[in-house]
Amino acid sequence: MKNDPSSNIFDLRQFGEYGDVNPSVTDSATYTFMQAKTMTDTFHGEAEGCFLYSRHWNPSNKYLSDALAAMEGTESGWVTGSGMSAITNVILQLCSSGDHIISGMTTYGGTFAFLQNWLPRFNIEVTFVDITNLKAVKEAVRPNTKMIYTETMTNPLLQISDIPALSKICKYNGAKLVVDNTFTPMIVAPFSLGADVVVYSLTKFINGKNDCVAGAICASAEFINQLIDVNNGTAMLLGPVLDPYRSSSILKNLHTLHIRMKQHSYNAMYLATKFNEVGLKFNYPGMKDHPGHEVLTRMMNEQFGYGGLISIDLETSEKANKLMEQMELEDVGYLAVSLGYFKTLFSNSGKSTSSEVPEEIQKEMGLSNGLIRFSVGLDNNIEQTWQRILHCLKVTETI
Ligand code: PLP
Repeated sequence: MKNDPSSNIFDLRQFGEYGDVNPSVTDSATYTFMQAKTMTDTFHGEAEGCFLYSRHWNPSNKYLSDALAAMEGTESGWVTGSGMSAITNVILQLCSSGDHIISGMTTYGGTFAFLQNWLPRFNIEVTFVDITNLKAVKEAVRPNTKMIYTETMTNPLLQISDIPALSKICKYNGAKLVVDNTFTPMIVAPFSLGADVVVYSLTKFINGKNDCVAGAICASAEFINQLIDVNNGTAMLLGPVLDPYRSSSILKNLHTLHIRMKQHSYNAMYLATKFNEVGLKFNYPGMKDHPGHEVLTRMMNEQFGYGGLISIDLETSEKANKLMEQMELEDVGYLAVSLGYFKTLFSNSGKSTSSEVPEEIQKEMGLSNGLIRFSVGLDNNIEQTWQRILHCLKVTETI
């Protein structure tokens, strides 16, 4: 078996104050010291094991960060109040006025909006490219390119980024590779493939319960320390800290992630096979004819499968809406944004999570008005779920 991210988490010895099997929740914003010097040393990062103030480090957040770093194979990690804050803080830590970023055109809509609408206020330019076209990526590089930004499996088109190839382009040009691995935790380990920084929306698969919004940054200790430097660290100064109660609950959920990813992938592959049989236009990277199949197979940890995201294209939003409403009625899952939940979620990406992307760019990147993205749940009887979907497809005269 390849490096096993789950065993790496399980092998951590994280106990509470009294030997509790779950680490204690640190319910404090500040920490007291018996000696003033220790406080000064802690301020300068020179007192091992001491905590100063919870916007900087909190023991509960440290446990979750250490577990995520163990999963990712990075020296360090830091958890944030949302996936967006993980993404934006990393970008603002690495880029300044006058810098240039190359980004995949298909990223999560919020990320796209940040890159396209917000960064120009600070004189940071972004070139959007088809991230699977390595020639286009190389051609987009400028002397001031500081970063290539991509998602391992892009939202919502499920394109696959060739991380080793992108890393090579970055190294050659002195840029950093930042990868959002939200769709493929455990399946792909971007850091081991050459990414410099890995970001997550923990809100999705990693927490898996849809009860909170959270994010994470995994990278070298040097980068994390820069990010939380008290004088000029972006995360320390913008303050996107995660609440320790949430860290504690996410840490518990992280310990079942390996089982959940396998089941999400199994169920999505089952539906892909059925969609194929009835001739639906669909997109799933697990299928051999998917343009990113070979790249994903080369990068992935096979035991976790090809992921829980699958989409179908009904061409118009009217048809998509009709089918989604029927599927909600027939208990296929919920008509809702987000992903990685134990129930199946489905939404029309162009009208929801990618609605920040202007219509003409949606067209350019090949995002159909009728695209329904499914985040396939943990259904124990996926055959029954398929029968319900089939019934909905027939009732709405989709097939
Ligand atoms: N990255 C991806 C791939 C996403 O799909 C999302 C949200 O949908 C985010 C980041 C943002 O995460 P959050 O909602 O936790 O801020």
